[in-house]
Amino acid sequence: MLKILFGPALALMNNLSYPSKLTLVSALFAVPLSLNLFDTMRYQQQEMNAIKEKHLGIELINQFMYVIIELEQLRDMTVLSRSEQRNKGITNYTQQRDKTLKLLVEFSEHAAIQNDQLLVLTAKNLHDKLLQTRVSTGSEGDIVNNLYENSNRLVDSAYTLQSILMNEFGLYSDSNLLSTQLISLLNKEIQPIFDSAGRARSFGSYFLTLSNLTSIGINLLEDTIHKLFSHQERLQQRLIVLVSTYPELKQDSLILSENINSLGNLAFLVEDKIMLDPDFLTNWKDFYLETSTEIQQLNNFRLSVGQFLEGYYLVRKQQLQQQNFSYTAGIGFLVLLFGYLFFAFVMAFRSSIHNLSIAAKHVADGQLDETIEITSNDEIGRLAMLFDSMRNQLKEREQELIEITITDGLTKIRNRKYFNETLTKNLSLSERIDQPISLLLIDIDFFKKINDNYGHQAGDQCLIEVAQTLKNSLSRPNDEVARYGGEEFAVLLPATDLDGAKKLAQTLCSKIQNLSIVYDQQTIPVTISIGIASSNLIPDCTDDLLVTKADNALYLAKEAGRNRWVSSHD
Ligand code: GH3
Ligand code: MG
Ligand code: MG
Repeated sequence: MLKILFGPALALMNNLSYPSKLTLVSALFAVPLSLNLFDTMRYQQQEMNAIKEKHLGIELINQFMYVIIELEQLRDMTVLSRSEQRNKGITNYTQQRDKTLKLLVEFSEHAAIQNDQLLVLTAKNLHDKLLQTRVSTGSEGDIVNNLYENSNRLVDSAYTLQSILMNEFGLYSDSNLLSTQLISLLNKEIQPIFDSAGRARSFGSYFLTLSNLTSIGINLLEDTIHKLFSHQERLQQRLIVLVSTYPELKQDSLILSENINSLGNLAFLVEDKIMLDPDFLTNWKDFYLETSTEIQQLNNFRLSVGQFLEGYYLVRKQQLQQQNFSYTAGIGFLVLLFGYLFFAFVMAFRSSIHNLSIAAKHVADGQLDETIEITSNDEIGRLAMLFDSMRNQLKEREQELIEITITDGLTKIRNRKYFNETLTKNLSLSERIDQPISLLLIDIDFFKKINDNYGHQAGDQCLIEVAQTLKNSLSRPNDEVARYGGEEFAVLLPATDLDGAKKLAQTLCSKIQNLSIVYDQQTIPVTISIGIASSNLIPDCTDDLLVTKADNALYLAKEAGRNRWVSSHD
């Protein structure tokens, strides 16, 4: 079942290299992740653009707020200028209008405004309307309220432009609640407040210049006082809630509710100086100045809200930038880490496989001495370790086999095959280093008789003990003893001259003679005869020549009565 299920995948995997397998599997994860990543990054970019746009928008609004302030100032002059004309104390209405126009032109010239057709048109419209305003020279019967309302329309248009500005720069659609609340405060909410403040200032000053308060005037001023108090109350409530919800607002001392007292002050000014002073003793200029101070306070409040918003958007922009940077840096780091680890994987895998292949080749070629370099601790590392232990076992086995082929089965000393090889090697070496090499050919005396008298097994026992005695008698590491034939032995003595060979031959004869070989409770006497030959004493010495010379000497030793040595050079 599993085989059927995984059959195609297994077939695919079996045909891929390990790095390809890893690439394939990681790609399956990486592709959807990357798509998601790109999506997130695109979203972040959009968010960044939006916040930049909003920050620019609030900058423009702060600039435009001065246009509104000056326009409201112009409007508030309108009513007063009616009476001022008559009183010859003319306020420079035209001067104020030109100042406002200049600010409006400066605002309209901003590159961000120029890019927006709707804003350009609205600003131009406002500019044209402002240019057309004149000091009213209408008849005495003009109702001043109408006069105020007419010029208030211009202010209205300015607020509309501000509203378009907020909309165009996305300030209405902000996910941040504090920002949207402050934006709404700055636009439609604040307009009626300044309307009432304007009425208090302009109508108050107007009636003071007239020294006459009509019933319309009484109603108008009472209504204004009432509105100012209710504006103050509502705005204060609003600010208390805002500051308690958003503690960051506390940092701005001007946004606190105490700074709205100007509204109440304005109401008190109207009440004290006009409504409660039927003789009109107050100078209208003093009144105008005092109310202007309060209005200036209110303007400071609204400018402060605008400044706060600008700073707030800047912080949000910087936070977003930081966030985007951290995100991009994090992702970049992960991608680099993946690449780094992937590369390390491929390198480690290649190196392990390479080492394993080389080791396999060595084993195949019979080079069992080369150890495998194991650097990894993974599956391949474990495989390499197993492979290395297999190589060691093969090496031991081979060593054993070699040992068997060069060892005599009965006596456990080297055999004739080994002797022949060693002789050839040593003879050529001794010629090269100009050193003599001597050979002792040893034959056990009357061995046939030993076999006959004590039995074949006793003979074998003799062979074993003679071989061990010969072996133990050799002191130099390069001296070699081998079983040459049935009861014949050969002793090869590299770097040994004839004298040395003779001495050793004598020692060997004595040691064997003194051996007491006990078999089946019987002591078997054994002696040997030795033929000696030395390479330096044989011209053009070869293996065969050396052996033949020693063999001839051995024959002579036998002839001479056995249990002795004979040198082929005497
Ligand atoms: P010589 O003193 O002249 O050497 O007399 P010998 O009897 O030793 O000489 P010969 O060569 O006639 O006899 C050698 C005998 O060694 C013949 C054989 O039975 C015996 N022999 C050879 N190999 C072995 C062996 O492995 N075990 C035993 N027990 N005897 C062996
Ligand atoms: Mg013999
Ligand atoms: Mg013999």
